[in-house]
Amino acid sequence: MPDTRNAPDYQNREYQDFYLYNSATHRKEKFVTHTPGHIEMYTCGPTVYHFAHIGNLRTYICEDILEKYMRYAGYTVNRVMNITDVGHLTSDADEGEDKMLKGAKREHKSVMEIAKFYTDAFFDDCRELNIKQPDVIQPATGFIDEYIKIISRLIDTGYAYSAGGNIYFDTSKLNQYYIFNAHEKDDLAVGVREGVEADQNKRNSNDFVLWFTKSKFEDQALKWDSPWGTGYPGWHIECSAISLKYNGEYLDLHCGGVDNAFPHHTNEIAQSESYLGHPWCSHWFHAAHLNTASGKMSKSKGESEFLTVTLLKQKHYDPLAYRFFCLQSHYRKALVFTWENLSNAQSAYQKLIKKIAALRPDSDSNHISAQEQEILSQYREKFIRQVGNDLNTASGVTLIYDVLKANISDAAKVNILADFDQVLSLSLIEKSAELREREANQKTTGAGGYQITGDADADPGELEAVNALILQRYQAKQSKNFAEADRIRDELKSRGIELTDIPGGAVWKKL
Ligand code: AMP
Ligand code: ZN
Repeated sequence: MPDTRNAPDYQNREYQDFYLYNSATHRKEKFVTHTPGHIEMYTCGPTVYHFAHIGNLRTYICEDILEKYMRYAGYTVNRVMNITDVGHLTSDADEGEDKMLKGAKREHKSVMEIAKFYTDAFFDDCRELNIKQPDVIQPATGFIDEYIKIISRLIDTGYAYSAGGNIYFDTSKLNQYYIFNAHEKDDLAVGVREGVEADQNKRNSNDFVLWFTKSKFEDQALKWDSPWGTGYPGWHIECSAISLKYNGEYLDLHCGGVDNAFPHHTNEIAQSESYLGHPWCSHWFHAAHLNTASGKMSKSKGESEFLTVTLLKQKHYDPLAYRFFCLQSHYRKALVFTWENLSNAQSAYQKLIKKIAALRPDSDSNHISAQEQEILSQYREKFIRQVGNDLNTASGVTLIYDVLKANISDAAKVNILADFDQVLSLSLIEKSAELREREANQKTTGAGGYQITGDADADPGELEAVNALILQRYQAKQSKNFAEADRIRDELKSRGIELTDIPGGAVWKKL
């Protein structure tokens, strides 16, 4: 079942033009689809040998907003994603260790146990970040017959060859191999660059493995029979095969992080178009990296540089503050992560929620007039136009503040913010309702109208316990038992609570 959380349903809206940078043509273009009003979208999924880091998740946040934006702009979308559970070696150019095997060894588990655990962990992280699940999610291990079918045709048509027991794609057979960058030959000796031995079986340095029959890993866990011997697929073939099966022969949009452009996406294009005999995907979307002070955040750099959603939560950051942080920058610009940047984003996010919580959309005088309806549709158009200018999420966020300042009723404001949030998915309405409820619970009224206002950050149990003590102190003072009142004040102090008496009540906060 697809998870439709936060999926806007705008099926009846007439679709609007929007503009997106296309890495294949190197320019921003009006987005044109194969079938008018409908978008076939493919996203490279995670390699499930470890937790996703927040860099990976930046890419998935960008893709999530892109999908939701396109639905908001009136398109129907079929979004497909693979889960890489086989074939991905530490070098994207078929060299190095098998990533899944590496994960299994690290944790003394089987490859399939690792795949299940980290697939679930990935979707848990997505849930925390309000990332909707794609319509179709498929593991690479489920499509061996498809790979065999595609590879067989590539061999028959002369695009693939067998050498040293493996099947390779022959890049010299293409009119154009490089789609995204003009690579120099030297730059392509990926094996050399990454300190691993280059594969001597390759006829051309850019040729890539379609099927490994000679596993270099003695304990290779997953193997299947094929016309070329027992083995397993190369990494790139899975995305072509899964997309062809679930998106069809004409793909409108293919997404991934910028490191996927070469060689992964370049190889996907080579094999898909050679197989199909016609152009395959018209639009390529690449999200720039999340960097730390020492460069790209990556799993291979070790735990200190490899930040997860769980770690953010342990450090008391709201995962949605991270989403907010990502939205404020453009997807084509590298984003530098520091704890200070995240703290700033979190405090801006909390202030925003506070502002929305202060709105009173339910009061009788606050209905939405016909004139306001007109203003709201102007805001919607503005949102579609501005965010639709190469996925400018920062201007979507700015529009939230414009709405808050606008001269319209609170009901109208909440209405339009809820609408924008279908795309931005910052839980603006839910979080502000929660804050209002917390604030209401903060106030406990005792006999005679005595009112206690507690710390907004206190959890409900603490709030109740401290409020009860303060009420006891008030009652002690009423019955002139000042020793007891002082004792309670001291007890509160020793618990790190600062109490201030105000006319008609008291206010407390945690120090
Ligand atoms: P992987 O699980 O390594 O296959 O990567 C999953 C996705 O995260 C891919 O689309 C990568 O391009 C992307 N990615 C990897 N590192 C980063 C990073 N530091 N910042 C943003 N995206 C990244
Ligand atoms: Zn892929």
